[in-house]
Amino acid sequence: MFKLRPLPYDFGALEPYIEARIMELHHDKHQAAYVHNLNKALEDYPELQRMSLEGLLTELDKVPEVIRTAVRNNAGGDFNHTFFWEVMKKDGGGEPKGQTAEQIKKTYGSFDAFKDTFSTAAKSVFGSGWAWLVMGKNGEIAVMTTPNQDAPVMEGLQPIMGLDVWEHAYYLQYENRRPDYIQAWWHVVDWDKVEENYRGIVEG
Ligand code: MN
Repeated sequence: MFKLRPLPYDFGALEPYIEARIMELHHDKHQAAYVHNLNKALEDYPELQRMSLEGLLTELDKVPEVIRTAVRNNAGGDFNHTFFWEVMKKDGGGEPKGQTAEQIKKTYGSFDAFKDTFSTAAKSVFGSGWAWLVMGKNGEIAVMTTPNQDAPVMEGLQPIMGLDVWEHAYYLQYENRRPDYIQAWWHVVDWDKVEENYRGIVEG
């Protein structure tokens, strides 16, 4: 069975940009529910319980149709949130590092231009979803969005950085002002982790 992994920092670590109350609900209630519902969906499928989250998401066609949507939403929810927590940290922000910085400059011209592209994508998600920086199939980085809890790995794309723009991620603090949340979020990005993700993909 899948277990809810602990948040890698205190609920208040990302304040003032993301309030502790949001982080507590987001991890302890929302992510916990994805884990619970995934386990419930897999109750009668011990062979699927042994798969990894990524394995389930990349091989959804092997999941019986009767539970496929539940697995897609809840394995995606658990996978995406764990990934999301890790690309943020206390006293984060600043500028990209190392190879990520080089690729961003090469692809977007400047960090500011990249920030605009990524922020615009995040703002443009209609309803609930995510904005991502991914490694494209051509070996170049790209910004994309996914609806609901869909994960880039479902399309064979490796995530480098991700931003949750579901209302549950910001509404208690920013109400309907998603652009303010997105702007604040840049202050908590863990660029060391983003660089680690990038290198992990290019170095296999
Ligand atoms: Mn969320």
